[in-house]
Amino acid sequence: QNASRAAGRHFLHIPGPTPVPDRILRAIDTPLIDHRGPEFSALARRALDGIKTIFKTTNPVIIYTATGTGAWEAALVNTLSPGDRVLMVETGQFASQWRNMAQKLGLVPEMIPTDWRVGVDPAAVEARLKDDKAQTIKAVCVLHNETATGCMSDIAAVRRAIDAAGHPALLMVDTISSLASVDYRHDEWGVDVTVGGAQKGLMLPPGMSFNAVSDKALAAGKTARMPKSFFAWEDMLTMNRQGFFPYTPATNMIQGLVVAIDMLHEEGLETVFARHERLAEATRRAVRAWGLEILCRDPNAYSSTVTAVLLPEGHNADAFRALALEHFNVSYGASFGPFAGKYFRIGHLGDTNDLTVLAALAGAEMTLSLAGIPHRKGGVQAAMDYLAEAHAKPERAA
Ligand code: PLP
Repeated sequence: QNASRAAGRHFLHIPGPTPVPDRILRAIDTPLIDHRGPEFSALARRALDGIKTIFKTTNPVIIYTATGTGAWEAALVNTLSPGDRVLMVETGQFASQWRNMAQKLGLVPEMIPTDWRVGVDPAAVEARLKDDKAQTIKAVCVLHNETATGCMSDIAAVRRAIDAAGHPALLMVDTISSLASVDYRHDEWGVDVTVGGAQKGLMLPPGMSFNAVSDKALAAGKTARMPKSFFAWEDMLTMNRQGFFPYTPATNMIQGLVVAIDMLHEEGLETVFARHERLAEATRRAVRAWGLEILCRDPNAYSSTVTAVLLPEGHNADAFRALALEHFNVSYGASFGPFAGKYFRIGHLGDTNDLTVLAALAGAEMTLSLAGIPHRKGGVQAAMDYLAEAHAKPERAA
């Protein structure tokens, strides 16, 4: 007997990778095909066209065989030149990592600080750009959803801020933990490069990422001098026009991608977004009922995909997560930076529903008791009450 075997499914409630639906697993588990043959080019065209509907763009979307970090790098190296200034907002761990990457690549990032408990303040972006009279800032890079903190930002408002400052900087947005879970409009919001990833709202395994590009970004690419090879847009766009890639693409991931896109449209993007909002609100009601604090302190910035829960002083969130895994076979997300050890994150995104989220909340409520963390009972009940009411009155679900 193997004592380490846990019965039933693992409850993967980190904010990505998310559980991969069986239908996608079956699509990936398929015989290999020739990546230079007609069957592949038909598949690639479906993927390349279909993914545009998720980013809401009519321009090309580039598909990389790389995790989201690769698509971050692609966004920077295809549009910028060594020494260019980029304006970023320190919403949390992932914004900081993108900044570190920019620095390592030889760019000059400038960070607007926050306390990691809010989203981007468009007024601060506007003020900084207005100060940049010489227009040395070449790009504004922000996250739609800061996965580390559970704070979202209003991208349309950031666009308006850049326009109000009359500044020509490119707008680059990371949607790695919001794409296909929260409404996102690459074209309408005037985003120049949108960075996406496979393993969250798109419900795929890790290993695929995206750049959606504007005409302005493509034009900037003509004069950008950052070294690039694997990530170069031009080679990709040329080959993609024939339904091929410059190198061996992850063919089976692309099999999965077309099914993921079909599934999102079968459910309906608006329904997908409303489901995420409902599950997020149910989670927040549970947290409030426990008497615990949500890390994000701006209700307008609450994330629909992840909620970070602060534990009371003197209680360690890593020990809490370990206890939950040991007893209930559930994984929650870790904490970072100034809040390391102070919060845990409940992911409620991707192929998840009312009952999977209730299971995640039940695991958390029981672990709070096991760990001796002061809290009130009734978080799961509060979430159930909200969800039952939302189903009875669908127009109030969101
Ligand atoms: N950006 C955000 C917002 C993320 O959540 C992550 C990963 O979780 C990344 C970037 C990095 O992506 P990856 O781990 O796929 O390289």
